[in-house]
This record gives sequence, C-alpha cells and structure tokens, in this order.
Amino acid sequence: MFARLRAWATLHASWLRSAVVWPQFQDPTPAGNNHRHTMLRSLASATRETLLRQARGLATSAVIASGGSPVFNSPGKESTPRRFCVVGSGPAGMYAADRLLAAFGEDARVDVVEKLPTPFGLVRSGVAPDHAGTKSVVNRFDGILRDPRVTYLGNVSFGEHVGLDDLFARYSATVLCYGAEGDKKLGVPGEDLPGSHSAREFVGWYNGDPRCVKDLDAPLRRALTCAEGDTVVIFGLGNVAVDCARMLLRSPEHLASTDVCQHALEALRRSTVRRVVMVGRRGVAQGAFSPKELRELLNLPGVRVTVDPRELKLEPEDEADLAAQRPRRRAYEAIVKSIESPPAGVEADLKAGGGRELVLKFLRSPTEFLPSDDGKNSVRAVELAVNRLEGAAGSRKAVPTGEKERLDRVSLVLRSVGYKGLPAKGVKEGFPFDHERGVVPNVAGRVMEKMGGYPTHVTGVYVAGWLKRGPTGIIGTNLHCAEETVESIAEDAANGRLRRPDYRFKGKGVRPLLESRGVRVVDAEGWGRIDAAERAAGEAAGKPREKFVSVDSMVRTALAIGES
Ligand SMILES: Cc1cc2nc3c(=O)[nH]c(=O)nc-3n(C[C@H](O)[C@H](O)[C@H](O)COP(=O)(O)OP(=O)(O)OC[C@H]3O[C@@H](n4cnc5c(N)ncnc54)[C@H](O)[C@@H]3O)c2cc1C
Repeated sequence: MFARLRAWATLHASWLRSAVVWPQFQDPTPAGNNHRHTMLRSLASATRETLLRQARGLATSAVIASGGSPVFNSPGKESTPRRFCVVGSGPAGMYAADRLLAAFGEDARVDVVEKLPTPFGLVRSGVAPDHAGTKSVVNRFDGILRDPRVTYLGNVSFGEHVGLDDLFARYSATVLCYGAEGDKKLGVPGEDLPGSHSAREFVGWYNGDPRCVKDLDAPLRRALTCAEGDTVVIFGLGNVAVDCARMLLRSPEHLASTDVCQHALEALRRSTVRRVVMVGRRGVAQGAFSPKELRELLNLPGVRVTVDPRELKLEPEDEADLAAQRPRRRAYEAIVKSIESPPAGVEADLKAGGGRELVLKFLRSPTEFLPSDDGKNSVRAVELAVNRLEGAAGSRKAVPTGEKERLDRVSLVLRSVGYKGLPAKGVKEGFPFDHERGVVPNVAGRVMEKMGGYPTHVTGVYVAGWLKRGPTGIIGTNLHCAEETVESIAEDAANGRLRRPDYRFKGKGVRPLLESRGVRVVDAEGWGRIDAAERAAGEAAGKPREKFVSVDSMVRTALAIGES
C-alpha cells in the first residue's frame, strides 16, 4: 500500500512540475500570478483528494473531480495507437474523424458515437428529399466509417449511455459534434398551440427522423387535411423555410421518386393546403434565402407567386444592401420576374379550386397565434404587426408601425427562425455551455471553461460543427470547421497536452462499457444492414431508399433480430 502511495505522490509531483510550463502558467502579470496560484491550488487539492481516496482504498474510478476545479484522469501509460472519440456522426463528426485519421495516420483510432442507429445527421434527416445531389456526400462519409481505424457506435446517446468521465478515462481527446437539436422561439402568445410546429420538426417528419415521426405524424396529417383551413404560414425566409414551402407546394408526384418517407408522401398526396404564406420581419432586400433555392421555389409548376408590390419598393439603403450582396440582388430579381410572368393556366386553376399559391410577405412580425373555436384549440389564425425599416444600409432594423393584420383559415404554422444547440442531457453540471448562443464555448475548437475567472481549456475536450459555431453554414462549412479543431488537437498532442487514457481499459474505447451496460450498439456492419434493407425497399418502390422511421425497426434490422 505504501509503495503504491509513494508512486502516486511521485507521479503527481512530476505532473505538477510539468503543469507550470503551460502557457497559462507563464503569464508574468499579477493576473497571471493569481491564475497560477488558483491552478496550483486546484491541482494540489486534486492530488490530495486522490491520495486520500487511494489511502482509503476507494479509488475505483479512473477520473476524479474536485469541487469546481478541472477533472484530472489518473496517470497511465501513453496509449499507442492513440484513441479519439467523436460524438455525433453528422458532417462535422465525419469530417473530424477524417481529419483525425489524416493527422495521426496509422496511429489513430477513432470511435464515432451516434445517438441514432443511423449515421450522417442532417444529411439524412435535414437535406430535402428532392436534393439528391447534395446527399451524395454520404458516399464519402460511408468510406470514412468503413476505414479499419474507425469504429461506429450507433444507438449510443452521449450523456445517457456514456458520460464525459467515461470518455475522459478512455480517450486521448473527445470531439463533441452533436449539432443543434433545439429551436429558437418567436416568443408570442399561442406559439405552442396544436398545429404550430418548428420547421425542424416538420423537416424531421418528412425525412424520417424517428423522434419527429413519432410525435408529429398524427397532428401533421390532421393539419394537412383540415376542413377549416387551407393555409400554411411559415415564419422565416431562410433556406430551411424555402425547403418547407417547396415540400408543401410541389406536386407529390415529383417527390415520389425521391427518398421522401412513405408516410409523408401519402399525407402530402392527401393534402388540402392551397396557400403557403412565408413571412419575414424585414424587407425583400434582407431575405436570408439563397437565389438558387429561391428560384427553384418560385418556378414550381402550377404555383402562383404573390407579393404586395408596395413591399418590393426599395429605399436607397435597400438598394445599397442589394448592391453590396450579389446573391440578394439575384434573389430580388427572381421575385420580381416571377410575379411579372406567372405560369400559364395557374389563374384559371386557382379560380377552379385547383392550383396553389405562394405568398411572400415582408415587413411583418407575428404578435399572436389564435386558436380555433371548435373546442380543439388548434391554431386557426395569426395576427401580424406591420413593420417599417430604420437604420443605415447593412444594419436595417424592423420597427412596428402600429398597424396590424390578420391571416385566417390557417391549418398549420411552421416556425423557421433558427435551430438552437442544447447541452447534452445528463452531462454533468458545470460543463461549459453558452445557453444564449446555444454553443459550447471554445477557442479554435478547444472547449473553454472559466477557472478563477480565466478561460481555461478543458483538457482533452474539443468541439466542431453547429455545436461550435451555431446553426449556420452548409455541409462544406463543417469541413473547415473540423479542420481547425483537429489542428488544435494535433498542436496539443505535440505539446503533450492530451489526456492519458487509463491503462486499465487497454486502449479499447467505450464499447466494452456499453455492452456491460446492456446498450444495443449498432456498429458499421449493422448500419450496412439497415442501408441495404432501405435500398432494397426503395428499389421496389422506384426510389433510392425507403427509410426505417422507428429506432426499434432500425435496431432489429441492424442486429438481425427476428431472422431465422
Ligand atoms: C433542414 C436543413 C436542410 C439543409 N440542407 C442543406 C443543403 O441542402 N446543403 C447543405 O450544404 N447544407 C444543408 N444544411 C446544413 C447542414 O445540414 C449542416 O451544416 C450540417 O448538418 C451541420 O453538421 P453537424 O455535424 O454540426 O450537425 P448535425 O448534422 O445535426 O449532426 C449532429 C449529429 O449528432 C447526433 N447527436 C445528437 N445528440 C447526440 C448525443 N447526445 N449523443 C450522440 N450523438 C448525438 C445527431 O443524431 C446527429 O447525427 C441543411 C440544414 C438543415 C437544418
């Protein structure tokens, strides 16, 4: 026992000595001195705590935490090869895995932990079904998952099945890439009435995200065939709003050969929606849509586009905004063109009760969602405040004029004002999270916490993707984002600042732990079975794939349960 204690004390003493060469300890200012003292106190108290636990024979955990101080893993042999954990298998996670393989070569082992049995995040459950070309990036991601140095651990939820301490003890570094799974709110009365949903939920429903299908299938089917309303109102003018409008207005026959889920296709075929109204707070010169996506929406066959001509009038500041941003100028021109030349026959169709209409409403903010009076309490009308713009070009602000307007016969409201990152459920209290921005605070991907008032890197924890930058940017943006994060990891590795996994876990990662906890892990082979079954079902229906829409059916297929 005393020999073990002496070994621990020696190791911690040498670790304390090496800690003082870290840059944050080299700050010669009085602030730096304070920080140095705080850090040394934390280290000393952590060391004391460990020794006490050892002495009491209680040190069963590989990781100790002491009050608000950082978490230190017990020292062990530097593991070779190096094992990394990537949490989330969306674009950020897949690019992070790819860059780790490139940076650490044959020495790298990467475990990709994913909450759903199926990988690839929003490429599977966000990108619109009629944008098949965009989805082809999954071929590259599939190649990464099949690399012998990569282990896919699907159906494993970080925060629920594995915690940070489990990862600290087993990996040199962990990269959090679990995206943004919440919604920004409008903050108006009636926002949570039945029939009012976030665009994220609607997108997840038609794309087969099991969580959205389970919660939304029945209410959405009802809303799309509502006898008292034929209008869908979408708040927001970004590309996600454009996707939602296109899915509602496009002829379902054009969707039949895409990977849209069967339940959604059936509901869209039965839909009695005639009008989609897209509402933006600011003016036509400030819309967030990109011209290509907007043009696709404006040119849908059989759809009339309506805009109040007064809303197309440009002030000199708007002209300056359009001149400064060519994509916005092109979007503006596309809108003007579409109302000048409506598709042939659409007026007659609309009069005869067929045809569909897209209304773009600028300079409007919601003030209240009003319920139906049939006892069902579903949203049936929306009250809007009319705005005008103030301020210089580049920073035009919407201010209410005091005038109000009302949209009636509403069957569904979709709020498309932004996704929002959330802290992972069950991750221990005190783990840094910026609730306002919905991101994990970081510098170049290094997760930062405040220690003694100073931002300090949480050793071995990094972040990439929407969880790092907020929910903006296309798939490719995540490549540069992950690259920056992996550069930070490589730099920290070169400076000996990664974690030392506990030698008792023999460099095996979390899989044995998950199995001991009874988690039904879906590995790359299991995902291969899901993929093959979905493609086969799709082929029979004349589409690229027919997705499984429940976690249970995915897991049963992956684990070949129920087969003889
Ligand atoms: C509706 C929509 C349409 C889009 N269309 C396009 C397009 O056409 N073209 C384009 O270039 N970009 C498009 N984008 C943007 C693109 O999808 C994003 O830039 C990208 O997906 C963000 O990557 P990410 O890895 O950060 O997040 P995500 O793609 O959201 O991936 C996060 C992953 O983490 C997993 N996860 C969540 N919580 C946990 C947990 N606790 N434990 C383990 N895993 C967890 C999730 O299941 C998911 O797989 C679209 C975005 C949306 C919302």
